[in-house]
Amino acid sequence: MYEGIVQDLIDEFGRLPGIGPKSAQRIAFHILQTESFDVSKLAELLTVVREKVKFCEICGNISEQNLCSVCRDPRRNPALICVVEEPKDVVAIERTREFRGFYHVLGGAISPIDGVGPDDLNIRRLMQRLADGTVTEVIIATDPNLEGEATATYLSRLLLPMGIRITRLASGLPVGGDLEYADEVTLGRAFEGRTVVSG
Ligand SMILES: [Zn+2]
Repeated sequence: MYEGIVQDLIDEFGRLPGIGPKSAQRIAFHILQTESFDVSKLAELLTVVREKVKFCEICGNISEQNLCSVCRDPRRNPALICVVEEPKDVVAIERTREFRGFYHVLGGAISPIDGVGPDDLNIRRLMQRLADGTVTEVIIATDPNLEGEATATYLSRLLLPMGIRITRLASGLPVGGDLEYADEVTLGRAFEGRTVVSG
């Protein structure tokens, strides 16, 4: 334990996802000891990002405007919606250049252990988007792990009665992993080879 504010800083970094006590300490001391480290720039960015970045009103992706850049793009195919867990998955799929439809970001996955149920996810808005019949295919691209599978199963059951074609990414993605860690080629192939979910 360090004295006062140094420990406060370490504790604060330790609250961030994926940062354990050792990393938190390393980051804190890096900031304290590196003269060239621009503290005011980081502080300003943190403030501005909170003020400016919001969630797209249509798809839930992050955006600096009411609608994200994907939803503002008129050249995309309105018949296709790809459902993902997080905004970072949108970035991963965009990198493959395989998909020219729209997205829907759930904001997580169903995980009873973490207390996350369907009502905690951005599912109601998805149902609204599907109501007018424009969308003919929903591609479920949740992560290839337990929570992602549970979410995909839940969504399939919910959407199949609506008569929309439901597809899932082909296997070949590293199981137990995170969509964003799949390389572009693998993720692109998984998209091309997506399979239809039947009831
Ligand atoms: Zn959007």
